[in-house]
Amino acid sequence: MAAEIREADAEQQQLLSELIERGMLVESGVPGVYGHSEAFGRVCDALERWLTAAGREAGAEVLRFPPLLPKVQLEKVGYLGNFPHLAGSVFSFEGDESQAAELAAHAAAHEDWSAALRQTDLTLVPAACYPVYPAIAARGPVPDEGVIIDVGPSWVFRHEPSFDPGRRQVFHMHELVHIGPSTTVLSWRNAWAERALALFIELGLNAWLAPASDPFFGRRGRMMAASQRAQELKLELLVSIAGPEPTACASFNHHLDHFSATFGLTLGADQPAHTACLGFGHERIVLALVRQHGYDLDAWPDQVRAILWPDEAR
Ligand code: ATP
Ligand code: ZN
Repeated sequence: MAAEIREADAEQQQLLSELIERGMLVESGVPGVYGHSEAFGRVCDALERWLTAAGREAGAEVLRFPPLLPKVQLEKVGYLGNFPHLAGSVFSFEGDESQAAELAAHAAAHEDWSAALRQTDLTLVPAACYPVYPAIAARGPVPDEGVIIDVGPSWVFRHEPSFDPGRRQVFHMHELVHIGPSTTVLSWRNAWAERALALFIELGLNAWLAPASDPFFGRRGRMMAASQRAQELKLELLVSIAGPEPTACASFNHHLDHFSATFGLTLGADQPAHTACLGFGHERIVLALVRQHGYDLDAWPDQVRAILWPDEAR
């Protein structure tokens, strides 16, 4: 059965067509899955450099993880209860020869071949920070002042097919994670939200911060979303790109002790840790910049070019 595709309005569809016509995005045949041009990649790389340098300045340790996650980790954090509609699970073939022939026949006829598959131990990573918590917990207690981890630009997957070019199924999320004392984690998150807002404004974007919620599933999810919003656990950095609603280009999330309780993250003196993460969505930020400054990167304002490509003399 084909996936239900989220509605995109006329402006979003128009932007998608434009990006494809100009070669910035390369269609795959599935909505929300695109290749991209060199110019698009140049902006992603520039964002990447800025974020990596900012992380280094903040004393972050760099760790990198593959885009697959042991399924047990997703189970432990309750992802399937909260976001079953977004998860991607890896299934593979483990049958005999006749089942293989049946599978190949279904595939050749472009029919459903899922009956021949079995679940593996793996899921796709839905947020770049997920592998960090168990990895740091495995080291033992965290130093008293906490740790900051730069997880870099991970490929992440979310099953939300759409013709809005701002809503992809697979995209890059650069995350910084702070695991530390409850007293500093929240102020760290807030300071980063302000810093990112200042960056966006320097980049010429009309951006603002607002409390937000995650897209929790179902009726119980609506209550969780309301509570998350009321406690301001999630802030989003919003920009109007296309369509009636502004688009979240980055988020600043305070998890209280959700991940630390799940994975047994403690500080030196056996104090429970709190955690926070910052997630920057590269592709959405590129769209915001293109929308604001146009398709020709060489014609972008000097101030913007100086931030993104400081080594390029004009
Ligand atoms: P939204 O509310 O738009 O669904 P989200 O709150 O689920 O986004 P986060 O989980 O906070 O997003 O992810 C961090 C960042 O990753 C977002 O601020 C955004 O820049 C980017 N992002 C999230 N979902 C998508 C997507 N489907 N396509 C492209 N970028 C995305
Ligand atoms: Zn995160």
